[in-house]
Amino acid sequence: MSMMFPKQKTKKRRRHHPESIIQKKNGRCLLCQIMDGDTSIKRGLQKHHIYDGPNRQISEENGFYCYLCRRHHTDGRDAVHQNASNMRRLQKACQKIYERRHSRKEFMDLIGRSYLGDEEDV
Ligand SMILES: [Zn+2]
Ligand SMILES: [Zn+2]
Repeated sequence: MSMMFPKQKTKKRRRHHPESIIQKKNGRCLLCQIMDGDTSIKRGLQKHHIYDGPNRQISEENGFYCYLCRRHHTDGRDAVHQNASNMRRLQKACQKIYERRHSRKEFMDLIGRSYLGDEEDV
């Protein structure tokens, strides 16, 4: 066996991958449940990071993600990546849940802004 990857001590801290704070991983789509009252088990659920882009890793490390069916994730007019109001809905819901145990400041320190309070509520 060759040593293509010599051992090295990395300073990289262990990544935390906590469970989602807004949804149990139980085979159901969050938006099917919220929007359609559909609690059936879905096949091929996809993981969606609530605060994507530059906050994707932070979302991962803090459990700010959920599971969505294809129709609610990327395909179709109700999909969060096609539908800004559905995207925002999850961003608000997740922040609300986070703030049950944390302050607004803690949230803003993580995500860089607040999705609550400064506009109409859903
Ligand atoms: Zn769905
Ligand atoms: Zn996504």
